[in-house]
Order: sequence, then structure tokens, then C-alpha cells
Amino acid sequence: MGDPASPLAFLIYISDFNTTPHADDVILNGVPVSHLEHADDVVLFSTSEAGLQSKLDDLAAWASLNQMQVNLQKTVIMAFPRPYARTQLQKPQLYLYGQVLTISQKQAYVGVTFSTESSNLWDAHIRLCEKRARLAANKILFIESHVGSLPPWEGRLLYRSQIDPHLTWACEVTGCGTLKQLDRIEDVQHYFLRRLLGLQSRSQLCVLFSELDISPLRFRRLELQLRYTQHLLSLPADHLARCALDQAVVNARSRAHSWYAQLRSTCTARELQLSDAPTEVEIEDALSNLSDRVRQYVATAINSSAKLDLLQARRDFSTGRPRPVPVMQFRPYLRIASTELRHAVTRLLLSEHSLSVERLRWRDGRPYDIPREARLCRFCRTAVEEPLHCLFHCRSSQDLCTARKAFWSSLTRKLPSHWSLPDLRNLDAEDLFHLLLSVPTTVDILAALCARVMNIYETHPRFIPSLDDIADLSEDS
Ligand SMILES: [Zn+2]
Repeated sequence: MGDPASPLAFLIYISDFNTTPHADDVILNGVPVSHLEHADDVVLFSTSEAGLQSKLDDLAAWASLNQMQVNLQKTVIMAFPRPYARTQLQKPQLYLYGQVLTISQKQAYVGVTFSTESSNLWDAHIRLCEKRARLAANKILFIESHVGSLPPWEGRLLYRSQIDPHLTWACEVTGCGTLKQLDRIEDVQHYFLRRLLGLQSRSQLCVLFSELDISPLRFRRLELQLRYTQHLLSLPADHLARCALDQAVVNARSRAHSWYAQLRSTCTARELQLSDAPTEVEIEDALSNLSDRVRQYVATAINSSAKLDLLQARRDFSTGRPRPVPVMQFRPYLRIASTELRHAVTRLLLSEHSLSVERLRWRDGRPYDIPREARLCRFCRTAVEEPLHCLFHCRSSQDLCTARKAFWSSLTRKLPSHWSLPDLRNLDAEDLFHLLLSVPTTVDILAALCARVMNIYETHPRFIPSLDDIADLSEDS
């Protein structure tokens, strides 16, 4: 109606608007719901053309009695087919003030876009969420061209405040989403988090969640939907939103299509159980189990990866004794101030580096594969060229030895009191790496070594074994 009055004043003004009961009214758990108002945005419902025409007539009559006029240009009709209907929906013809109203296939109400353009009601809404989230992500990343690299902690704050709201907008209503819809919005999440960590566009996904402590979007959306269900269950029985939930539960019980049936099926896919008569306590349990499922999901992905051996062996040495680390946590090494050093240690830890153990996985036009044991160090050609060998073991390059000498010398000055240099020299390379990574005073020194060593390797030609070299190695082993 386009009235400039305040929303509250308008609600008071329109509070006596009602419609005549009709046999085709929408009934939610025994309560007829034929219209909703959000300030001056009015929506009328019915399950039939005749029922809706009767509501429109009631609206026109009320408006004329109250010196109001409905804006015909902003008034549209949407016709929704029944779920899984086999017959084509007939286009209804409805009138207001004697004029035929426009039939629309897409319309937003209270910021949620409903669309009948495709078979899924929410496709257009999800496309809009994706577009807005991508725009927000690109705007944030554009800042980098003015102020330099975005530190991960600040980037994470911006993700949660500026991008996540678009990626989860109205998911309480639309549900978690189909796989195709999730693919669209998850792509934005992955794109932004990879840029934040300085990883390439095809890096493994589990590390985005384990290192930044951000949930995969499909879990995050399910969590919000469960929290909303919990809120609905706390409402009085005659609250319209509670009536809608109760009706959805009744429909699910009779195996009919419903919002609750969909939520239950999404939960089942995550090994969470919801009953035929949900309670607040039951939802609280489901939420608690869901946070376990997220961690299991990320841990399983890390442990089953053939590339993430350094992450699989990660332990926390910050208090002296080695302890297991949380599966998901904002990692201390991401607070390294220098972008170059932070990226160097991140890429080595997450197997996104250019050492042969990773790079020779790819054929790059070669007619043969190179097994892991043949991806030898370009300097010594006796060990696999992998991070720990390059950082701490290889002695076949003078540059590497010089870098390592500088590293040990810096370390002497920064060691915490409960560690001595001989203790560290006695550790195996893997433990040494994780110890230095988990102690705030030594992580910069480790990162500097990573950057220097990677630079040395990148400036020397890689050793590419021939088929004969590979055969010789197999015979030797
Ligand atoms: Zn070597």
C-alpha cells in the first residue's frame, strides 16, 4: 500500500482488518490463517481461486471504509502447485477493483523470495543469497588491493558478520537446501576461506574448517533451523508460528510433505534422530549431537586424506607435554603478522606447497605416474622431497645448511624455559615441527625457516625420475 506511516501506527490502523471465513481457508493445526501483515505488506492466502477472490473483495471493502486504496501495481497473485502434483496448475484469474491482477512467478515477502519458476520453491532465493554473499566477499577481498593482505582473524570476523548472514538468510524457513542449492552457496564460503588462508582454488576443504574453526555451511544451516524449531516450541500454542510448526509435525506424522518432514530427513542424514512429537529438550540434544557430528565430519576428512599427514600427527606442545589438539580451532600460527611467512607455514602444513611429494602427483603431460617413493629430493636424491626432510634433514645444499644454522641460532634466544636446545635436537622432525608451531614465541622462527627453505627449493630445478629410475628404485626396495 506504500503508506509512509510508521510500521507500528500502520499495524494499529489495520488491526480490525479481517476476512470472511471460507471453506477453502488455509488451516494450521485447527487455526484458520487467511492473511498476514508486515507493516504495510499484506499477504492473503487461500487454497482455491474462489477463496482468494473472496479475500480480495474483503480487502477492497475494508480499504474503502478506511480511506485507503490498494496499490494495484504492487499487488500480484502467486499460484503454488501442490507438492508432487502431476497435473499442470491452471492460471487463476483474480480481480481487484474490477481489474485483473498480474500473475507473478517470483515475489519477495519479508525479504524471502518465493518462486514457481523451477520445481523448487527456494531456487530463486538461494540464487539471490549466493549473489549477495559473493558481492560481499568480493568487496571484502577488494580491500586487500588497498591495505594489503587481510589477516585471517579479521577476515574470519568479516566472514561471520558480512558473508555468513547472506549464506544462511531465511534458512530457518527454506530448510538446509538441496545438494544443488548447497553447492551454489558453499562455493562462496569455500572461495572466501581459501583466499583467507592463501590456498589455491582446489585445496582440500576440510582444512578450511579445521584451521579457522568455521562450520561447513550444511551443518551451520541445519543448526540454525534446529535452533528456530526450539524457539517455535517455546511459543504459546495459539501463536501462528507455533501453529505452523504443529501442522508441519502432523503432516510429517502422516508421511505428507512438510517443513518438519524435510528437517527430520536432513537430521537422519546426519545420524540425528527427531521424533514424531518434538520437544525443546529433544532439540537441545540434537544440537549437542550436531556439534559432535561437525567435528567427526572434519576429523574423518583429515584422517582419510593421503595428503594431510602433517595434520594427522599434529599435537599441542605449548604446555611442555604433548596433548591432542581440538579438531576445529582458530590456529595460533594464523596470527603470524607477515603474510609471506604465514602463507609459507600454512602451505607446508596443509600440503599446498610445490615440493615434489605433492607436485609429482600430477602427470603434467608425462606418459607415466611417479610413485611417492620415487618423488626424490632435488638435492640429495636419496629421500622423498617432503616438508620435514627439506626443513630438518637434507644436507646436500649449502643454502639449506646455512638457513638451518640461522634457524637454530634464532631459536636459542626464543625458547620457553621448560625446553632446552638439546631437548629439541633430540626430538624427531615431526614433533619438532609441531612443538615450534604450538609455541607462540617460536612459530615465527619456524615460519621464517619454511619460507627460506621453500625459496631455496623453488629456485633449483626439480628432479623428475625417468621410468628407468623408478624401476631401479623398485628393485632396490
Ligand atoms: Zn634432500
